[in-house]
Amino acid sequence: MHIDLPTVITVGWIQALSMGLLLWLVMGAYPGAARRSLRVWIGSLLLQAVAWLLMPYAGHHVEQPLLGLLVNTMLISAFGLGAYALRMLVSAPPHRQRMLALGAATIAGIAWYQLVDPDYAARAYLFCVGTAAFALAVLWPLRRAWLHHGHRAYRVTMLVMLAVLGVEIWRIVELMATVAPPASMYDARASDLAHMVLMATQPALASTAFLLLYYEAAHAELRRLARIDPLTGISNRRALAEHAARLIAAAARDGRPFSVLMIDADHFKRVNDRHGHGVGDTVLCALVARIQRTLRGSDEIGRTGGEEFVILLPATGAAEARDVADRVRETVAAAPLRGAGQAVDLTLSIGVATYRTGDPNLDALLQRADAALYAAKHGGRNRVVGPDAGATPVGKRAGDHAPARAAHAHAAAAPADAPSRDAAEPDSQAPD
Ligand code: GH3
Ligand code: MG
Ligand code: MG
Repeated sequence: MHIDLPTVITVGWIQALSMGLLLWLVMGAYPGAARRSLRVWIGSLLLQAVAWLLMPYAGHHVEQPLLGLLVNTMLISAFGLGAYALRMLVSAPPHRQRMLALGAATIAGIAWYQLVDPDYAARAYLFCVGTAAFALAVLWPLRRAWLHHGHRAYRVTMLVMLAVLGVEIWRIVELMATVAPPASMYDARASDLAHMVLMATQPALASTAFLLLYYEAAHAELRRLARIDPLTGISNRRALAEHAARLIAAAARDGRPFSVLMIDADHFKRVNDRHGHGVGDTVLCALVARIQRTLRGSDEIGRTGGEEFVILLPATGAAEARDVADRVRETVAAAPLRGAGQAVDLTLSIGVATYRTGDPNLDALLQRADAALYAAKHGGRNRVVGPDAGATPVGKRAGDHAPARAAHAHAAAAPADAPSRDAAEPDSQAPD
């Protein structure tokens, strides 16, 4: 197979230029950090395009040392920029000084063998070492990110970088082994051609990898955001339901106990009325932090509403769940919470429910926990009720959850037959 070098060069600049322009057109759609790395990446592509365009004038028939040096400087700088952009994208430390030093040392060496002691083989050698070093500078953080996140796009990008590294090493070995080193790049051997073909095709290859990396990371971030509560950073209802589904499956399979606590802050409206919504927000965060300190690592707390939280307690039976609930309630009641410099007294009402055979999902447990929570509110707040059916308030049966749920969710607009917790009996000062 004959590979024509001028054609490879033409492919090189077309690929780099078209990819650079294409990405430049869509750059505005990318958010903050990704846009910064994309801008650097586009700079790298455009620099490569200009270098490829100038390459044929740098010494096909008559050597043009200064132009040759310019082309090499542009290519090395472009690879440095590309490596820097990829490091930014995977949130690796930029190591600007080291990257600059690597690029400067490579260019200085090439300048020496171009202007002072002209030697094509030595220049090719240095070029390969510089390019391989930049590939390594990307491979290392990519490997770390891949081990951490496991995204497939990291693996694809690593493969592109490994291809660059492999071809550069092959070229170095061939240069070292050869008795009569080539005098110019047009004196090409297999490894030189492979190097040129890879250099010409890598703008498209590496840009595709760059975009895959970005999209996979962005997708993972969106998935994470869709599962957390933005104020407190804990799980939201969706994440809780997913986690609970696994625990319910284990409970159904192995008979492992599983309990949930439904928590509602008492009279939280007063906190907002007295201290302002901002303080209310920080009190909610302080509340979560304090509750978390009382839980085991395997317990999971989530926010299901304004001042309402649910805790999943794996491998926890009824009595133990009740103990956990008492501990949570006591810890919060014991000392004021700090919110934006203010000390705010807060108490909790907690409903407890335990998995029963046949419960299909978290909602089934939450209905019982909600009924128990309703009873806790009705009984005077700052107390724990459940998980036994006997704790259900007078006039409510254990299975009669719907009115309680409605009362819980719509306390303010509750109908007369489903009184809101606000309309419950006056608070007692101490729990029962
Ligand atoms: P109860 O003891 O019956 O639960 O009384 P409550 O005042 O806590 O209950 P109610 O449902 O009447 O009011 C809940 C309050 O929680 C109303 C709302 O201002 C407040 N709230 C809900 N979400 C947030 C939030 O994200 N931040 C702040 N600061 N307040 C919130
Ligand atoms: Mg509430
Ligand atoms: Mg409340």
